[in-house]
Amino acid sequence: MDLVRLIYTSTITEQFEVEDIARILKSARVNNKALNVTGLLSFNRQFFLQCLEGTRQDVNQIYHKIATDSRHKKPEIIGYQEISHREFDSWNMGYLQNTESLRELFYQHTRIINFDPYNMNGERALSLLLDIRDEIKRAEV
Ligand code: FAD
Repeated sequence: MDLVRLIYTSTITEQFEVEDIARILKSARVNNKALNVTGLLSFNRQFFLQCLEGTRQDVNQIYHKIATDSRHKKPEIIGYQEISHREFDSWNMGYLQNTESLRELFYQHTRIINFDPYNMNGERALSLLLDIRDEIKRAEV
C-alpha cells in the first residue's frame, strides 16, 4: 500500500491551553490508531511541528481535520512525500515534552535561540523529528 509522510507546522492560538496537549494526544492516539496512522508531535510553547505517516487517504483525512482545529492557526505543510517505510512506527502519536533536551535539539538544528519551524524545509524538519524520535526512545528505556 502506498505510504506518505506529511510534516506541517502551525502556531498556537489564544484558545490553546497547556492542558490541550493531553486532550490532543488522547484524540490523536485513538483516531490515528483506527486508521493506522503513526507520527510524532512536538511543541515549544508557540509552535507545533507534527508528522503523520500512513496511506495517502488516511493522512490527508486526519490532516484536514487537524488543520481546522481552532487551537492553532497558520498550518503550513513543509514536507509531503511518498515513503517506502515508516520512521515513526512506534507511536500513533509520539510526544516529547518541552524539556531542556527538546530545546537543545531545536537549537542544534536551527542555530536560532527562538526556534521558528516556518523557516525549515522538509528535509531539515524530518531530520529534527528523527532526532526527537530517538530522544523519546532514549527516555523510554
Ligand atoms: P472529539 O470528541 O471531537 O474531541 C476530543 C477532545 O478534544 C474533546 O475533549 C474535545 O473537547 C476536544 N476538542 C476538540 N476540538 C477542540 C477545539 N477546537 N478546542 C478545544 N477542544 C477541542 N487529531 C487526531 O485525530 N490526530 C492527530 O494526529 C491530531 N493532531 C493534532 C495536532 C494539533 C497541533 C492539534 C491542535 C490538534 C490535533 N488533533 C489530532 C485534534 C484534531 O484537531 C481534532 O480535535 C480531533 O481529531 C477530534 O477528534 P474527535 O472527533 O475524535 O474528538
